[in-house]
This record gives sequence, structure tokens and C-alpha cells, in this order.
Amino acid sequence: MLRQYLEIKEQHPGTILFYRMGDFYEMFFEDAEIASRVLGITLTSRSREDAQQVPMCGVPYHALTGYLGKMVKAGYRVAICEQVEDPKQAKGIVRREVVRVVTPGVTTDEQLLDEKSNTFVCALAVSRKGQKLLALGLSFLDLSTGNFLISELPLSDGRYETVIDEITRMQPAELLVAEEEVELLADLLDQLSVLLPGLCLTKRHDSTFERHQAHTTLLEHFQVSSLAGFGCDGLDTGIRAAGGLLAYIQETQKTELSYISSLRLLTRSGFLIIDESSRRNLELTETLIGNRRQGSVLSVLDLTLTPMGARLLRQQLLFPLQDKGRIERRLAAVALLLEDSLRRRDIQAQFKGIYDLERLCSRLVLGHGNARDMSSLKFSLACLPELKKLLMNTPAGLLQDLGLELDPLFDLHDLIAQAIRDDAPVTLREGGLIREGFHAELDELLVLLRDGKQLVANLEAKERQRSGIAKLKVGYNKVFGYYFEVSHAQKGTLPEDFIRKQTLANAERFITPELKELEERITTAQDKRLTLEYELFLQIRERIAQQSTRLLKTAHAVARADFLVSLAEAADRYQYNKPCISEGDALIIREGRHPVIERSLEAGRFVPNDVHLDQEAHELLIITGPNMAGKSTVLRQTALIVLLAHIGSFVPAAQAEICLVDRIFTRVGAMDDLRRGQSTFMVEMNETANILNNATERSLVILDEIGRGTSTYDGLAIAWAVAEDLAEKNGRGVKTMFATHYHELTDLATTQQRIRNYSIAVREHKGSIIFLHKLVQGAASRSYGIQVAALAGVPKQVVQRAQEILTNIERGEFTPTGEPTIAVSTKKAQRQQAVCQLSLFPTKEDILCQRLKDVDPDDLSPKQAQDLLYEMIEEVRRRG
Ligand code: ADP
Ligand code: MG
Repeated sequence: MLRQYLEIKEQHPGTILFYRMGDFYEMFFEDAEIASRVLGITLTSRSREDAQQVPMCGVPYHALTGYLGKMVKAGYRVAICEQVEDPKQAKGIVRREVVRVVTPGVTTDEQLLDEKSNTFVCALAVSRKGQKLLALGLSFLDLSTGNFLISELPLSDGRYETVIDEITRMQPAELLVAEEEVELLADLLDQLSVLLPGLCLTKRHDSTFERHQAHTTLLEHFQVSSLAGFGCDGLDTGIRAAGGLLAYIQETQKTELSYISSLRLLTRSGFLIIDESSRRNLELTETLIGNRRQGSVLSVLDLTLTPMGARLLRQQLLFPLQDKGRIERRLAAVALLLEDSLRRRDIQAQFKGIYDLERLCSRLVLGHGNARDMSSLKFSLACLPELKKLLMNTPAGLLQDLGLELDPLFDLHDLIAQAIRDDAPVTLREGGLIREGFHAELDELLVLLRDGKQLVANLEAKERQRSGIAKLKVGYNKVFGYYFEVSHAQKGTLPEDFIRKQTLANAERFITPELKELEERITTAQDKRLTLEYELFLQIRERIAQQSTRLLKTAHAVARADFLVSLAEAADRYQYNKPCISEGDALIIREGRHPVIERSLEAGRFVPNDVHLDQEAHELLIITGPNMAGKSTVLRQTALIVLLAHIGSFVPAAQAEICLVDRIFTRVGAMDDLRRGQSTFMVEMNETANILNNATERSLVILDEIGRGTSTYDGLAIAWAVAEDLAEKNGRGVKTMFATHYHELTDLATTQQRIRNYSIAVREHKGSIIFLHKLVQGAASRSYGIQVAALAGVPKQVVQRAQEILTNIERGEFTPTGEPTIAVSTKKAQRQQAVCQLSLFPTKEDILCQRLKDVDPDDLSPKQAQDLLYEMIEEVRRRG
């Protein structure tokens, strides 16, 4: 047996082998050691003849799913090895085979899947010229839904940003790479393992990734002679990845995969691109800190009622559209559902009865589905006719089209309703699956089983009459089966066909051919019934599997309807309004709100803000204001409103005119990017470089405090240069919101037509400040850093000293005696006195004077001169 075990083990390297022995799956050697640790089960041993100990442990077969889940979640691949012949009939060792391999990326087990997101396995292949990497082939597959994608990305200068964007967006659970390419891609793999903790790397034998073989794998699977129909004919490297991926699935699943019926090109064109760091910064699907779903945009927006809908919403949030027509179709559908709340309720009521159609379908196709899955499918299908009606009865548009697309699948519903019992168990070989009335032979067997006792009793009565022995009794024991018992006193006149079997002290036992025949029928009926039910079940499962394409198409229509209803529900619940999508270049938001932060505040406490960006006078907004004023919030909410509009959602604003945007870039915060293990500054500059290199006139750029990670002057210089570049890019500039703590940047507005100063208003009150969270025109008069420090509880004497140092700094770099002014301190006693005089703006006049001194009136246009005057007057007034 151990020899058989070792042979099978050798054929499945890199897996933990669950080896079926009777009612247990056993593991041996290192597998046993790993499994006992991961699963928390006892390690025992089995003695070999030579008395060496073989470590082993096992789990009961009925608890497989739970243990499997634990192993896979811990990042292991598990090969499940079953007995493939009846042990009773086996000569020698029972034949065993691995029937499937379950890995973190390749699973259809419900317990292992997050119903609200897809579980993708991803394959990579790389093409190169010498040591220079040219392109990366990428392929993704979600086995549980059959969603299969291919893509190829150029690798310029060995930079992986785009690749990382794509891969992290899909969040695969497992990554396949050909053995010989692991080394080449080491850099990328390192970065991915940091960004996607828990990602399982699987090295594959190279041949499956080899160009010709990969191509053949795909052609054979799809039964086509060319891949041109999938639009990926020329993508050699992509095809290597896709073929290698499919070969892996075939190898691990060992079953029919026909429901994977197409290969879709994963393109970036046509979508609004949000790179990896922007996605994180905007907290689209998880929070920046703690990576939780709760607190993300998705958690607020997701009011879907089906798992398919939830997955689709998530995908849409990561792949917003760029096509005005498609966006408007969605907006119209959402508007309709928002208005017709009665219809919306009715549709939602149907969704509540629909299970995970995509995953039910794939389980049935892959041959893992049980009768309960079928019942769930039946209940889901029962909701479709009404859903179809509700969708069809809408004015022409997206909803009506979805209604048309939705196939109510009456045939499948009726098949399951007629065949499968509602109370069927999860097991397939213990009967109780098939309804009476579905199959004549099964019905007969069921009658026999149910009425078996009665038939025996009937026979007993008949024999009593025939023999005339009133006390003739029927009995049963294990040795003889059924028999008739007659006491010695009565046995005189027995019929001839009574055959004596046993003599007891006061009675004798007989059988008759008729009794034996009945017995035979009853005892074999149970076996026959179990086998027949199992076979019928497999036939029904196969019939459903054959309809998988229709089923998946309907599942997709349901998902899309659920997605739209969810958007309408959100618009209703949170008071969102319909954005107007324009092909112009202005972005005008009236009373915009942050969708997540407003939920965390009491109703009405969030202060809405107006934002106006265009290609003329409002290209780049410099936004100043103290910490905690709400700069980051207004920046992010603007990006989110733009993004939501692009998925076809209503937006948290009173009114919004949104121009089509090709990319949203954000560089947010000075937080150390611990996940990447890089220094803040390096990360910041990487992201900034990415923005400067890729932003177009149709992009939206959000810069939040860049330049923080380095010395003040460096930071300021870089921030200034970046802003200048963005304002002038391609002669048209890029729409940018730039929050900064560098006050000097506000001077940019005087140098550039397209740059405007804004600030977030605060009110001074008794030496302290109140945050108004209101975005207003004009630069902030100062940063109030010291007031914020005081609010935060920094001790009084430190706050006062800081105030003093600030004054020194603002005066100039050195004192007349050559001492750095920053260090100057009045005597302690004097400082004591100063306590009562601490004013908010001790140096305002100085600054204004300095400002005037710096101005050469001959350089100013009349308009600029007037602006300057207004600005200075406003500053003086604000000071009071
Ligand atoms: P900054 O970036 O200027 O330091 P944030 O944008 O991080 O400030 O905002 C700080 C806090 O102020 C937020 O967490 C939120 O609680 C509150 N806040 C910001 N903007 C608003 C607003 N418009 N209405 C109400 N509260 C706000
Ligand atoms: Mg901030």
C-alpha cells in the first residue's frame, strides 16, 4: 500500500496527498507532519515491517471540506486520492487515483470562496530578447464562474507598474509561472508577494507554457482552428500564459471544462484607468489601514442582493467605463429604478430568492454539485419568470434589454422539480435524492422497500390459510433470512413445498421458494435503489451541465440587473443625484460630498463643497489650509464623484457636470508605504513620476501633500516644479487638485493663468480655531500648525516656544549677530510675559511688507495688480 501511495505521491509533486483509506483520508511522512500542524490533528505512526516508524495522520471522509479548506487557506495544494474500485471486488490493493487537486486559486468549494469577489488564478509568461524583457503575457481564470481572460502588456525598461496594476486589480489567489521564468520575473514576483499577501506561487513545468503546446491546448479546448475569433491571435506571450493556465486546470480538475466557453481579451482601452496606488488611496475596495472592507467605498455602495451582483459591482468599480453612451444607458436605468420604487422593491424581492447561480452552475458542470445544489438552483430559477416580467415591462432601455436576455430556463426548473427531492441529503450514494414518479423502475423499488414488511405479512396470512395452521409465524434471522416457524404440535399437515431448515426444542423452521424470492427482492432492492438513484442523479446533473451556457448567460443578466438596482438603492438611501456626462472639458461639482466620510458622521454634519475644474482658468487648484481642515477629503471626494459617474452611478452631489476622464491619478499622504518596504520619499517620487509620464489632458490628478518625505526646500522645489509641469503639460495642462502645506506654492497662482488658489476656511475663536470644512477661493492666510498642535494637547510651554520660533523663522535666516534666527530665544522671564500676549498673527504685517517689496509694479498687468491688491486686502481683513 505504501508503494502505491509513494507512486501516486510522485505523480503529484508539490501537493499534500489526501489518500483515501476506508472512511478516512490519510497522510503520511512529511505530508502528515505538515497536516497535523496545520489542521491541529494528532500525528500517529504506522509500523513498517522493518519497524521503522512512518508518521501518519488522517481526517474522516465526511469532514473533508472543512479540513480541505484549512489546508488551502494555509496556502497548500491538496491532491484528493480516492478508491476507484469497490474494495469488496478488488484483488490485492484497491486501485486509487487522484480525482482532483484543490489549490488556493483553483477551487469551487463554497467554504473556500468569498462570495462577494472572484477567485482568480493567474498565469504569467514573459518574452525577451537576450536579457531584455519585452512583453508579459497574462491570463486569469475564475474556475467557479468560467471567466477566462487573456492580455499582453509591453514591458518598457523593465518597469512593472502597469502589470502590477492589472494583477492587483484582479487579486488572484494563485500565480502560475513556468519554472524557467521564475528567475527572470523574480523582481515582479517579490513585489506581488508584498502587495498580495497570501498569494500562492506555483511553479509549472515549462512544456505547458511552451508556445506551440499552449496554443494547441487552447485550440483543442475551444475546438477551433484559430484563436482569431477571440481577438487574441497575435498575442503570442498572452497565449502562452492562457494555454499554460488551461493545462493546469485540466490537470487539477480531471473533468469536463466545456463551460469555460470563451477567452476574453482583457483590455485597458475603453476603461477609466485607476492605477494600483490610486485604488488603494481612494479606498475603493478596502481601507488603507487594516485592509478592511468595512469603511471602503465598496462597503457603502454595495447594496446588491445576489453574490453575482456583488462581484459585478466590485468589478465595475475597478473598471469604470469611458464610453458616454454606455454610461448614460446605465444612468437612465438607475433613474428609472430610483423613481419607480415599487418596481425596485418587487425586483429586489426576486433577487432575495436567487442563490449564486454562477457557482452553482460550475459545481454542477465540474461534477461536484450535489442534490442540495440542484434544489438551490431550482429555487433560484423559480424567481426568474417574475424577474423577467418586471424587467421587460420597462420603457425601452438597458433594463428591458436585460429582461430580453434573461432566459427563464423553465426546462431546467421543471427537470429539477420533477426529479429531485427537496429533502435530499448532501451525500450522493445514500439514496433519498430522486422523487417518486420520476422513474418507473425506481418507483417499483421504493414500493418494495416501503411495503416489504407488508408483503411478508401478506405471504404469512396466505400460508396460514393454505396450510390451515393458524399459528404459523414468519420470522427473520441473519443466518437463514426469512422463515416460517411452526410448533411441533401443529406441523402434521404442511404443504409439500415447505422445506425444513432448522429444528428447535419445540418448533421447526421452514422456507418456501416464494418466501425466498420475496426475500431476495427486498434485500437487493435497497442496493439497486442506491445505485439507480446515483445513476439518475448523474444523468440529471449532466443534463443541467449541458445547458451551462444558457445558465451562465442568465446569471450574468441577473448580475447586471442587481448591479443597477443596487445603484438605484444607493441613490435613494444616500440622496445621490444624476450626474451629467459631458464631452467638454469642465468638471463642475455643486455641493459634493465624500460618500464614505458622510456616512460616518451624523446626518447633515458633512459640509458639502463646490469644485470647479476646467481647461482655462481652473486647471490646477492649489488648496491650502491647516491640518484636519478637510483638504484630503475634498480631494478624494472629487475623484470618487468622477469615478462613480463613470460606472453609471448617481453621485453624492447636488449637481455634477462630469467630463469624460481617461485616468485618475492620486498621490496621497505621507504615510510610509510599509507594505512595499520602500522609503516614503522613493514611493512618492515613483508615483509622481508615473503621473507626470502618463497624465493626459483628459486625466484627473489628485496630489495630496507631495514632497513631504524630504527636506523642506527639496520638497518645496519639487512640488513647485511638478505643479508647473502639470499646469502646462501639452500646452493644455492636466486637471489637478493639489493640496499642500507649502504656503509658498500659493505664489504659483501669480505666475500661471491656469492655476488658482483655494483654501479650506477656518474661524479663529479665542486663540483657537474652528474647522468650517468649507472650500473657499484664495490661499489660506497661514497654516495654523501651532494652533492645531495646541488643540491636539501639546503642552502649553512647547506651543509657546514654537510660536516664538515661528516668528524667528519668518523674519529671516540669521540674526545680525550671525546666530541662526530659528534659535533665538528671549529670556525666560520675558517669555513668561509673552504668554498673555500670544497672538495668532504676530508677523502678518511683516509678511505683507515683504510681499510688497518683492513686487515690481512694472512687471504686473493691470489685472494682476488688482488681483494682488484684492488678495492683500482680504488677508488684512481676515486678520481683523
Ligand atoms: P486634512 O487633509 O486637511 O488634514 P482631512 O481631509 O483628513 O483633513 O479631514 C480631517 C477630518 O475632518 C475628516 O476625517 C473628517 O472627520 C473631517 N472633515 C473633513 N471634511 C469634512 C466635511 N466637508 N464635512 C465634515 N467633516 C469633514
Ligand atoms: Mg490630508
